[in-house]
Amino acid sequence: MFKGILMEGSRGDQQVSLKSIDEAWLPEGDVSVDVAYSTLNYKDALAITGTAPIAKSYPMVPGIDLAGVVTESSNPEFKAGDEVVLNGWGVGEKHWGGLAQKARLSGDWLIPLPASFTARQAMAIGTAGYTAMLCVLALEKHGVTPDSGDILVTGATGGVGSVAVAILAKLGYSVTAVTGKPEEESYLRSLGAKQILDRAELSEPGKPLARETWAGAIDVAGGHVLANVCAGMKYRGVVAACGLAAGMDFPATVAPFILRSVTLCGVDSVMAPKKDRLEAWERLAQDLSPELLDSMITEVPFDEAIQAASQFMDGTIRGRIVIPVA
Ligand code: NDP
Repeated sequence: MFKGILMEGSRGDQQVSLKSIDEAWLPEGDVSVDVAYSTLNYKDALAITGTAPIAKSYPMVPGIDLAGVVTESSNPEFKAGDEVVLNGWGVGEKHWGGLAQKARLSGDWLIPLPASFTARQAMAIGTAGYTAMLCVLALEKHGVTPDSGDILVTGATGGVGSVAVAILAKLGYSVTAVTGKPEEESYLRSLGAKQILDRAELSEPGKPLARETWAGAIDVAGGHVLANVCAGMKYRGVVAACGLAAGMDFPATVAPFILRSVTLCGVDSVMAPKKDRLEAWERLAQDLSPELLDSMITEVPFDEAIQAASQFMDGTIRGRIVIPVA
């Protein structure tokens, strides 16, 4: 038996509890893992609170991320004792996830724990941090450099935003952090933000084109925020869009794209190919200061994780949550 969060019932009528689970119930997979740490991402909070239909079947163990040690493997890439990390691939949605002491899954979804991180730090990064790195890579691949001009990061006190601000600042970019939490200005400056912008300035419907201000942007919000970000880009500016914290809609015009050659890059972490994941984790090891990462962490005991998911939905949590599950 092992401890895990179990979502039971059905869509719209789910019950979530921390339970003792029989190992025989674990799903099929060629690698078994003793999970040491997991985390809460926005998507995990949506799943646990039932705010969005993240679980595709029941019963389901939530948790889109895990870090732990392989106990059994018939996959040639892994053997017992290997330390591994998992992000996404539908784990915690279609396949039992990381918020449990044991997991059985496909070795094709795993990557080795990067040598420069502990399992705890890898979960402090989690999907949020790895997505932040994918967004930075998207800006770079479209030619944005620190000399191009200021970079805007929305949802800056959140998981993706905090990691994005820290990485960009370390790389020498001048970062403007957009936040709805003015009281967190000193936190954002400690991560390296040069300027702070009130989220309210981007949240209302704006003009198709605004003053040319940003060379690059990482947006976690969508909705009017993303529309206003696009409208405020410099000529040939690049926006990496990965989230929907403000909404799923995109009430914009084509003006920034056809008059300023703005590029809008979509970023998905869940199905990103292994080579992109390995690149992102390699760059995280290089470009994310472990001290700043530690300053983003709130550790939540396993038996308080369900409660923490509700707080997450209020948007009051800062940085990253890690959950020791072992
Ligand atoms: P968090 O909850 O940690 O952070 C989201 C932040 O967005 C909040 O802290 C808040 O920051 C800001 N925010 C909250 N509500 C609004 C609003 N109405 N308008 C604008 N900003 C708002 O979540 P994550 O950082 O983990 O994830 C952010 C988004 O990115 C989510 O939508 C998530 O689903 C998505 N995501 C997508 C991935 C992908 O693969 N595409 C992977 C990971 C995340 P502040 O108060 O500072 O403004």
